[in-house]
Amino acid sequence: MEPPTAIVVGGGAGGIAVAARLAKKGYKVTVVEKNADIGGRCSIMQENDYRFDQGPSLLLMPSFFHQIFHDLDTSISDEGITLRKCDPSYRIWFPDHDHIDLSTDIPSMKEQIEAYEGPHGFEGFLRFLVESGRHYTLSCEHILHRNFATIWSLVRWDLLLALPSLHVFESIYTRASRYFHSDKLRQAFTFASMYLGMSPFDAPATYSLLQYTEMADGIWYPVGGFRTILDALVKISIRHNTAYILNTPVTSIALSDDHKHITGVHLSSGKFLPADIVIINADLTYAYNNLLPKTTYSESLQNKPTSCSSISFYWGLDTTLPNLQSHNIFLPPSSEYKSSFDAIFKNHQIPEHPSFYLHIPSKIDRSASPPNTDAIVVLVPVPHLLSPTSSSSSSPTSPTSPLNPHNTTAYWHTTTQTIRALILSTLHDLTGNDIESHIVCERIETPLTWKDKYNLDRGAILGLSHSFLNVLCFRPRIQHESIQGLFFVGASTHPGSGVPVVLGGSGVVVRVIEEWLVGRVKRGGIGVGVGRGLGRRGVWVGGGVVVIVVVLVVVMMRVEMGMRMAEWFCGIEEAWMESGDESTWRMLLCAILGIGLVRNLCLACTGVPAEL
Ligand SMILES: Cc1cc2nc3c(=O)[nH]c(=O)nc-3n(C[C@H](O)[C@H](O)[C@H](O)COP(=O)(O)OP(=O)(O)OC[C@H]3O[C@@H](n4cnc5c(N)ncnc54)[C@H](O)[C@@H]3O)c2cc1C
Repeated sequence: MEPPTAIVVGGGAGGIAVAARLAKKGYKVTVVEKNADIGGRCSIMQENDYRFDQGPSLLLMPSFFHQIFHDLDTSISDEGITLRKCDPSYRIWFPDHDHIDLSTDIPSMKEQIEAYEGPHGFEGFLRFLVESGRHYTLSCEHILHRNFATIWSLVRWDLLLALPSLHVFESIYTRASRYFHSDKLRQAFTFASMYLGMSPFDAPATYSLLQYTEMADGIWYPVGGFRTILDALVKISIRHNTAYILNTPVTSIALSDDHKHITGVHLSSGKFLPADIVIINADLTYAYNNLLPKTTYSESLQNKPTSCSSISFYWGLDTTLPNLQSHNIFLPPSSEYKSSFDAIFKNHQIPEHPSFYLHIPSKIDRSASPPNTDAIVVLVPVPHLLSPTSSSSSSPTSPTSPLNPHNTTAYWHTTTQTIRALILSTLHDLTGNDIESHIVCERIETPLTWKDKYNLDRGAILGLSHSFLNVLCFRPRIQHESIQGLFFVGASTHPGSGVPVVLGGSGVVVRVIEEWLVGRVKRGGIGVGVGRGLGRRGVWVGGGVVVIVVVLVVVMMRVEMGMRMAEWFCGIEEAWMESGDESTWRMLLCAILGIGLVRNLCLACTGVPAEL
């Protein structure tokens, strides 16, 4: 029998990873990429003798990287990649000329933490690590490697038991404030939510898993630049006969007359490529709106909460910057920490004092710039562009709207110049380096160029938001709802954004494809196991298990929260005041979970498999 043919639309991290995995299994794979080179957001920019990572520079969750190479029967070192550990992980600069070096070096952390928090401060740090470590382990176990095909996928006893410990309804900042008292440490241990393009005041506390992996596993950098990881995956996929077509945008996904299954893809050259399966790696919201027939769902995606964008500066210098580390974070004054995020995420404005990230690849990898020079990348988070169907009350077309000029080149040109001057003067003030006079080459990305280069919806650099109602089964699904043979991989589908998560997600996508191919699309849910495994004879056992699970969950939630009951009620009240919708959703979700349990119990009682 002929192997299935698969076309992957887009050669980003997700597309290449899925191509390598499918090719290894014997599929006939073709990757079609719109740009002249592979990599997408992981691309490399070369300017004179300076090399810059276009997007990712922090290699976090290293086990996810090792895992994909292991799955492909090889290893990172066998593929010739050297990973270097950044030590310290990064330096956090405060506006009062103070700084902290976050590191996996525990004695150094103890000394620094006690300087801010007093002699008992280190204990708080250790308790924070235990909690964030639990977030990491539970997320890996129950979320990141699993598919969430329907809302019933949430109704799994193991996930339900894990939920209270994941603190999904508390923000990272609220949670970290339990363990740290000083503003500076609260900031130091929360700003990483920006890796997901979210404010620490909105991001669910679950994402403190990022701080845990930074502390426990460290931050790494692949010698030769971040893209060497993808280059290695490309080589592996080519060893398994994957074909790459570059410089060729896909213009549409070809569908059968009844629109019920895919037949292939149409290329910008006018050519048609037939396929049994199409996997879209291009930004999901873009793809739904540009490569598939428009629907109300595709339009709704354009109004879903999405991550922030960035203005990124890539500077080649004719000097080095000795007092900076490879990774540096510059934070605003404590009094403006929250408002700087609110400006971006709530008011859709550039903060007066933006936080920013500065990366110097040449500090850890000399091949990034000529001798005695540095290559630096400065990433300033800014609001994403407005959706063409924005339903904002302050319509962008209104002359008085502060959002009015937001999507124009002129606006971003002026804003970029203002931010450039601000960054250079902050760097001069805090580090003593007069960088401007040493810039020998420069490149700049803005929300508009992110959108154009990689077709990122609203120029959002990290895909759709990762708020609770945009993850798990609420995130756009890996498998298209109604078009057979169509799948998605990458930042805006499950499990979410960030290179390790996307690489791990490619494994889930391949499992879903294989299950679809053998006609066994699993719908998840406790009832599957209970209904099948126990049958009629196990009705009472099944019912008993469900009741015990419900009681356990309730007890655990109360034990978890009981100590801080008053605070909990305040939190609920505050959340209701700030965002009535979200609270309503939470209650609805609880109702759905309850209904799900009852449904599965009923199905178990009648012996009917839950997927019916
Ligand atoms: C500035 C920045 C900094 C980041 N920092 C980090 C970090 O430090 N660590 C980390 O882990 N993650 C980081 N990320 C996130 C990470 O880069 C992404 O989550 C990840 O690369 C997304 O990969 P993807 O495959 O989903 O999408 P993409 O990389 O966007 O790949 C999609 C591909 O599809 C192509 N495409 C689009 N439309 C078409 C079409 N019509 N036809 C053919 N091809 C098409 C695009 O050109 C692109 O190559 C960062 C991202 C950015 C932008």
